[in-house]
Amino acid sequence: MDKQAIKNTHENIIIGGGIVGAGILRELTLRQENTLLIEKGDFSSQTSQSSSKMLHGGIRYLENFDFALVREALKEKKAWTDLTPHLTKEEMFYIPVYKESKWPLFFVRIGLFIYDLLSFFKNPKRKVLNAKETLKALPNLNPKNLKGAGVYSDAVVEDSKLALECIYDSLGEWGSAINYSEVEKVEKTDGMWKVDIRSTLDDSTETFFAKNVIFATGPFTDQLLKKLNIEWQPKMILSKGSHIWLKREGLELAHPMVLQTKDNRVIFVIPQRDAILVGTTEKALEPNTDIFNIQASEEEINYLIDAINQYFPTAGIDQDSILSTFAGVRPLVAEGNKARGKVSRQHKVFSPDENMYVIVGGKYTTFRVMAEDVVKKMHQDQGRAFKRDLSLAPLKKRSRIGMYPKGDEITEEEIKNIILEELPKTSDDIIKRRLSMLYPDQLKLTKAQIEGLIKEVRNDN
Ligand SMILES: Cc1cc2nc3c(=O)[nH]c(=O)nc-3n(C[C@H](O)[C@H](O)[C@H](O)COP(=O)(O)OP(=O)(O)OC[C@H]3O[C@@H](n4cnc5c(N)ncnc54)[C@H](O)[C@@H]3O)c2cc1C
Repeated sequence: MDKQAIKNTHENIIIGGGIVGAGILRELTLRQENTLLIEKGDFSSQTSQSSSKMLHGGIRYLENFDFALVREALKEKKAWTDLTPHLTKEEMFYIPVYKESKWPLFFVRIGLFIYDLLSFFKNPKRKVLNAKETLKALPNLNPKNLKGAGVYSDAVVEDSKLALECIYDSLGEWGSAINYSEVEKVEKTDGMWKVDIRSTLDDSTETFFAKNVIFATGPFTDQLLKKLNIEWQPKMILSKGSHIWLKREGLELAHPMVLQTKDNRVIFVIPQRDAILVGTTEKALEPNTDIFNIQASEEEINYLIDAINQYFPTAGIDQDSILSTFAGVRPLVAEGNKARGKVSRQHKVFSPDENMYVIVGGKYTTFRVMAEDVVKKMHQDQGRAFKRDLSLAPLKKRSRIGMYPKGDEITEEEIKNIILEELPKTSDDIIKRRLSMLYPDQLKLTKAQIEGLIKEVRNDN
């Protein structure tokens, strides 16, 4: 091996820098294993920034009797609201119930009790309101046939930032991470995995070596493993979900809500400072769909607007009320002939070759357990001991701008520090992920000015 190859050799390489890859990087570096994470786009720029932004047990999974998953996710929700209060917030969610709703009020009452029971009653206290009390809390709500509402607690999370902070926490002696680098080839040479990457910014190439390779590529897994000629039976069901950010005007809403739709789905409506997040849709995709730059379709946007207008008929929500839209693809793992909506969000770990691991499924909320499980499997296969819960240790490094930044203008100096410390490569990385897309008014710099600062800082260093 030449000098460069030795420098580029790690104990582990993780492919995929969403929340799961970030969690695995942290898990391994906490165990002092030399690990490199490689991400094709920016870190957390795919599914992990396109979620409904909730750390939750998943109240609707109770319908499928998925109690173990709900219990696990509620435990993780509590852990992360305690560990990262600057990125998470417990909120009381309202589920309005109408005469024609799929879940009647008594059903909601039982569901909320089970949900709190599964949190070992650590959730803030649930309640059930009658119609009059519901309208007092949500004055614009459609009163026709309203029976009442269930009220329970879940957490809202700044999704891309939690993944970023797990990465920042891992960098240093044991961990490194590169973005905008696509893995193009993975092959065994002399008992090591050889991983070829290509920069998606300047087309340059580099080769890395590692004893173990871990795929944390979420919904991209089947497509990528096929492209890399790895022996693998396709397992993913690609299920697209879109969201819209609405202007706050017209829909003055004090509480997040869970809406039951006519087609038996649920839609979350989450107010955040000047905007309201509404989603999500559920649309099957063909296995070979290009999902890297997926966008919300007109049909999905109209579906979400219709749902809102049914609940708030006087708000007059239309296309002009939309601030922006985004879409992502759920990394669901097929379970026999089960329908998309019924597939469990449990994760699964596979080892298609010696010292090669693939983790699929799961949800954002349970990323830490997913990371533990893949590392546990790897350690057990290699006859090493495994200790749980090391990753419940507090994060050592925070991102410079949290979820609820103070009202100050974000200065040029602050952007320069972000460029130096938080690994952005483009102005979008800064605007969409290092800052928060909810606070554009605090950023007085244009995209071009930010690009200029990126060049300036890079030239100086
Ligand atoms: C609409 C929607 C709403 C959701 N809402 C919630 C919610 O509220 N709460 C919750 O708990 N969960 C939610 N989820 C689920 C959650 O978002 C996902 O489970 C989670 O984000 C998946 O993370 P990941 O790291 O596995 O995937 P990703 O974030 O997609 O990361 C995989 C990464 O692999 C990279 N990659 C692919 N190919 C290559 C390559 N060749 N080389 C290098 N890198 C590569 C990709 O660029 C990508 O960044 C939601 C999902 C969707 C789609």
